[in-house]
Amino acid sequence: MRAIEIYDTTLRDGEQAPGAAMQPEQKLTVALALKDLGVNTIEAGYRAASANDAYAVAEISTICKGCRISAFARTTQGDIEAATEALRSADQPRITLVMPSSDLHIYSKLRIDRLQALEMLSKMVSLARNNCAEVEVIAEDATRADSVFLGDLYRTAILSGAGFFTLADTVGYATPEDIKMYFKSLIGVDLGSAVACLGIHCHDDLGLATINTLVGLEAGAQQAHCTMNGVGERAGNAALEEIVMAISVRSDSFPFSHSIDTTCLWPVSRTVSNMTSFIVPPNKAIVGHNAFAHGAGLHQDGMLKDTMMYEIMTPERVGAPARRLPITRHSGRKGLAARLLELEIEVRPEDIDALYMHVQDLLVNQKFMSDSDLLRAVSNLNK
Ligand code: MN
Repeated sequence: MRAIEIYDTTLRDGEQAPGAAMQPEQKLTVALALKDLGVNTIEAGYRAASANDAYAVAEISTICKGCRISAFARTTQGDIEAATEALRSADQPRITLVMPSSDLHIYSKLRIDRLQALEMLSKMVSLARNNCAEVEVIAEDATRADSVFLGDLYRTAILSGAGFFTLADTVGYATPEDIKMYFKSLIGVDLGSAVACLGIHCHDDLGLATINTLVGLEAGAQQAHCTMNGVGERAGNAALEEIVMAISVRSDSFPFSHSIDTTCLWPVSRTVSNMTSFIVPPNKAIVGHNAFAHGAGLHQDGMLKDTMMYEIMTPERVGAPARRLPITRHSGRKGLAARLLELEIEVRPEDIDALYMHVQDLLVNQKFMSDSDLLRAVSNLNK
C-alpha cells in the first residue's frame, strides 16, 4: 500500500474561519493533540499575519517535537524571513509558500503577468530553500488555472529547490474529474532527475472536499491537506477525520496507509472544537454527536441483533463514546426494553406495552427520554 502523508492546516486555514481565532496557548494545545494523533505535518500558522501568530509558531516549534512544523508564507522576502525566524527552534521545519496560479489571481491580485509570476516564484523558492531544508509550494486557485501554466509553475518550483507542490482548490470549485485532469497534467511534466511530492488541498464549498482529496490521492498526490472537523475558510477545508476513515474503512477502494491513530480522532475533534469555539454539528461524519446514535425502532432492533447492521465502523475505532440507542418518538419496544436492561430497571414483560405507550405520550412534547425521565415513567406506571 502506498503511504500518504497527512498535512494538518487547522492552525492556519482552519483558524482563518471567521470566529475560530485562537490564543497562542490554545494553538499549542491543538498542536500537541495533532502530534499525538499522528499527523505528519502541522502547519502552525501564518507568521506574518500578526504578532500573536508569530509567537504561536515559535512556541509550537520549540515545544512540539517529533513531527514536521510548517510556517505559511506568501512569496515575498518579508514573509519568508518571518517564517524562517518563527521556525528557528523546529527540529523538522518546512516553509510553505502560497503562490497564486490562476490568471484571475496573477493579473488582478498580484497585478503581474505569467512570466513575472514564474520569475518571482523561482526567486522566492530559492530564498526559502536557502533558509530551510524543506520548501513546499501551494498553487493557490489551481483548479481555475490553465493546466499548462500550472505545469510551468510546478517545474519552476521544483527546479528552484521546492520538494513539495500542492494543488489547491482554494474556492471549492473543482469536480473529481477536474482534479484527475490536473494531476494527469502535472504528472506529465518533465522534471529531469528532480524528485517531487505532490499534494492536494481542498475546500468544501460544494461539499466535494473529501472526495476531491481522495481522488487527488488516487491520481498521484502523496500528501493530503486537511483540518480537524473540516474547520476553515467559508464552508471549510477537507475534514481530516473523513479522509482518514474513508481510507481506513474502504481500503479496498483507497489502498493507502497513513500514520493516524484513529482512536484519537474523537478526543482531538473535541479539543479543536473547544479551542476554536466551533460546535461540531450533531450529524457530522465520524465525529458528530449522533455519528453512532440510532434512533429509529427498526434500526435499534437491528443494532441489538448485530451492530454491523447499521454501523460501518465501531465507535471504539474512532475513540467515540459508546454507541447510543436514544429513546425517541421513533423508537420501538425492543429499544426501550434494551435501555431498561442497561439501566438495570426492572419492568415486568407484561408492563412493557403500557410503559411504551406512556413513553410515546410523553414524547409528543419532548424530543428524547433521558434516563431520569425513563425512571419517572416507570415509577408512574407502578402507581
Ligand atoms: Mn485553503
